[in-house]
Order: sequence, then C-alpha cells, then structure tokens
Amino acid sequence: MNASASIGVTGLGVMGRNLARNFARHGYTVAVHNRTAGRTRALVEEFGDEGAFVAAESADDFVAALQRPRRLVIMVQAGGATDAVIEEFAPLLEPGDMIIDGGNAHFADTRRREAALRERGLHFVGTGISGGEEGALHGPSIMVGGSVESYAALGPMFENISAKVDGEPCATHIGGDGAGHFVKMVHNGIEYADMQLIAEAYDLLRQVAGYAPAEIADIFRTWNEGRLGSYLIEITAEVLAHTDPATGGPFVDIVADAAGQKGTGRWTVQTALDLGSPVTAIAQATFARAASGQADLRAAYAGLPGGTTPPLSRSEATRFTAQVEHALYASKVIAYDQGWKMIRSAAAEYDWKIDLAAVARIWRGGCIIRASFLDRIRAACTADPDLVSLVSEKEFAAEIGDAQVPWRETVASAARRGIPVPAFSAALAHYDTLRADRLPAALLQGQRDYFGAHTYRRTDRPGAFHTHWSRPD
Ligand code: NAP
Repeated sequence: MNASASIGVTGLGVMGRNLARNFARHGYTVAVHNRTAGRTRALVEEFGDEGAFVAAESADDFVAALQRPRRLVIMVQAGGATDAVIEEFAPLLEPGDMIIDGGNAHFADTRRREAALRERGLHFVGTGISGGEEGALHGPSIMVGGSVESYAALGPMFENISAKVDGEPCATHIGGDGAGHFVKMVHNGIEYADMQLIAEAYDLLRQVAGYAPAEIADIFRTWNEGRLGSYLIEITAEVLAHTDPATGGPFVDIVADAAGQKGTGRWTVQTALDLGSPVTAIAQATFARAASGQADLRAAYAGLPGGTTPPLSRSEATRFTAQVEHALYASKVIAYDQGWKMIRSAAAEYDWKIDLAAVARIWRGGCIIRASFLDRIRAACTADPDLVSLVSEKEFAAEIGDAQVPWRETVASAARRGIPVPAFSAALAHYDTLRADRLPAALLQGQRDYFGAHTYRRTDRPGAFHTHWSRPD
C-alpha cells in the first residue's frame, strides 16, 4: 500500500467517523480503519466524495498507508479497548511515530501509556476532544497532551480542524503526558457544575417565582444576551420552550427526573480529593445527579416536612428573577474558579507548564462550556499568569461584590422554601470559606489534638504544641 495518508483514524464510531471526515474536509489524506471492516467501507461509500480517504481493512495496511512519522488517531472507548488497540498497533510502528488517543481516557492511564510508549521510542499523545459528534465534524475544542516535539508535528493539523473564535483556533498544547486529558476531565467537571447551577436557577424560577417553562425559556434567552451568554444557557432555553408532542405539555415535565452520568464528573471529584483541591460546586453537581437516580431513598424521604412561604406576586417575581441572575453568575464564576485552581494544583503536582489563558481561549468555541465570559477569564489570566483566583481579578471581584445581597437572598429563599440548591449553596460556602478572617478549623485542630495528640500551631508564637488533656495546664 502507498504511504499517502498524512493522518489515520482507527475506531470509526460516532466520534472517529466525524473526526476522519473533518480531517478529509480540510484537505488531508486520511487513512481509515475499524475493527469491524463494514464500518470502514460504509464511511468511504457514504462520504468518500468529501475528501481523500484510504480505506484499510487490516492493521498492517492501515500502518502502511501512513506517511512517516506516522500519525495514528485512536477513537475507541477508554480503558481496556484503548489498551487493546495500542497493543495491536504499537509493534507495527517505528521510533518517532505518534499514537494519538482522542478518547475520554483517565489522565492517569494516559501518563502510564505515555511512559511505556516513550520507552519504545513512540510518542503517545493523550488528546481531549470536546464538542461531541457535531464538534468532531465541524470543529471541536482540542486539548493536546504529550511531548512538545509531537505537537510540532500535529499541532497545525489539530488547529486547522478545530473550532475558530475570532479567527483563533480552539486547539493548543496543554502540557506533557496526561495534561490534555486532565484538562478535558476538568472541563467536564465544570460542565457538570454549570448544568446543575442552570437547573437550580430554573427550579427557583419555577417554584418560587411561579413562572411556566415557556416563560423561563424567555428569561434564559434574555440572559443569553448578557454576561451569562453561553451554549448551555442557549440550549436550556430551547429545551424549556419545547412542547412534548404526545401530551401537548412542556417537554421538561414528561422527562423522568433522574440524571445520568458517564463518569468524568466523578473522576474530577475523585482526583480533586487526591489533590486537596476543593471543587465543591462540581462535587455537589455530581452528587446531585447520583441522588436524583436513587429512587428508593427519595421514596423514603418523600412527604417529610420542608419549608414553606407564600407564593410571590408578579412584581416580586420580577425582582426575584434579577436576584437569581446574580446568584447564577456569581456561582458560575466560583465553579470555573474551582476548576481553574484544580488545574493549577495538578500542574504543580505533575510539573505541567499549563497556560491558563490558552485554556480559556480554546474553551471559547467547539466545546460544551463555551461561554462569552471565557474571554474575560482569558484576559484576566493573560494580564496576570500567576492569578491565584479569578475572584481576585478586579472586574470579577466587583461583580461578586454586587452579587452579595442577591446571591445570599437566593440561597436563603431556597432554604426557607425547602428547595434544594446544592451547587448554589456550595459555591457561596466556598466563597465564604476562603474570604473568612478566621475559620472554625482552629476548633477542629483542638479536637484532633485532644483525641490523637496531633498537635497544633499557635497564633502567637512558632512551633508545634500539644496539650495534656487529662491534666490541662
Ligand atoms: P462508539 O460510537 O461507541 O464507537 C466505538 C468505536 O470503538 C467503534 O469503532 C468500535 O469498533 C471501537 N472499539 C471498541 N472496542 C474496541 C476494541 N476492543 N478493539 C478495537 N476497536 C474497538 O464511541 P464514540 O462515541 O465514537 O466514542 C469514542 C471515544 O470518544 C470514547 O473514548 C468516548 O468517551 C470519546 N468521546 C465521545 C464523545 C461523544 O459525544 N460521543 C465526545 C467526546 C469524546 P466496532 O465498530 O468494531 O465495534
């Protein structure tokens, strides 16, 4: 077989097929391969006129079709399937060749695979690709890990096929080994928090303000024009405006209230615990999905007393809506800030040189959490690459300041009425924890010293101290 392809894609499922087409549409000759050969043939039959494809039915033919150094993209399920495909192809490759894993791998697996393949002279490039099926075809956000050397050979291709915002590509080299998959994981964690916050805002507007779903859709459309402008707010308005054809009622009312998850939110929280990074809004969003699906527990709690207050008048509802907008915005800033701080912690832990302004830049298009305020985050991180927290940036600090009363009122209203707002509450508590002059951690440390002689530090002099609690001084 002639080595004519500049890139190859193996695993032609939902994502791989569209990614291969995206490369072909951009003028690259793409070798395509799939375990089940029928899928390879179907791709070329259906979309062969979109560009240059080389269909390979065997692994040997696939590798032989690639120009050297070879660039081979794997788009299969994370875990065992990815390991199996790596083991199938790595022995056929030569030093300097690149295996790109575009699946949703756990970053620790990517670190392991990168180290093992480096020993064999191969580049392993763990790459987070966000934007789903449509993004893969029309331009995803691409978070590339692996060596600087491999990015020199791959980066221009990824930047070419990625989404563009203001002419800038939504693809970049994030950092070494697992950095690309790590940042993709945190992206998904932030996505969980963002979605939960939006869902809580909807619930409050429905239950407290008394608006119907179609009215709330209009509120979200208005918010989408302002600082909350984002893909998730936009699609929320669409979902809320949708009528169920079978019943003629609001679509949102016929959907079972049990949210699914594929696991990247859980990975974010598990990893955050290991790093000691308090991503509390992301954690609450992940737990909220889990709790929503626990039918027997919910049945056991059903009917227990909760809060009540009289319904709002129409003018009060209008005021309340403005209040919720503040709460949603402030909580969203905190959720992104938590993700940002987690990436910063990981960069220190794993020695990745991550440019956080570039992360904000490539999340502005192609991915699920694309939002207008990422421009602001990018500007803040560009002005101060060592920015410890988004809330210490002047404009964000001013907005958080303006949100104080409405944010607290929103959370208090929810508590008085017995409406759960775990992500709003967690975001507010995070803010209050970090801004507090003094935390009850002092008491905690006293308890630890009492039962475990764990010692404590004093505020008035250096050193470690222990009190003999059975006979205190
Ligand atoms: P998919 O439609 O289910 O396709 C899976 C592909 O993997 C198929 O081509 C399948 O081949 C192949 N495969 C599975 N096990 C294999 C094995 N042991 N050996 C060789 N090939 C194997 O999956 P997808 O949605 O495209 O997802 C692919 C990856 O992208 C996943 O890691 C996913 O998490 C990630 N991702 C998905 C999305 C999304 O929106 N779908 C978004 C971002 C990232 P056969 O045809 O032979 O079964």
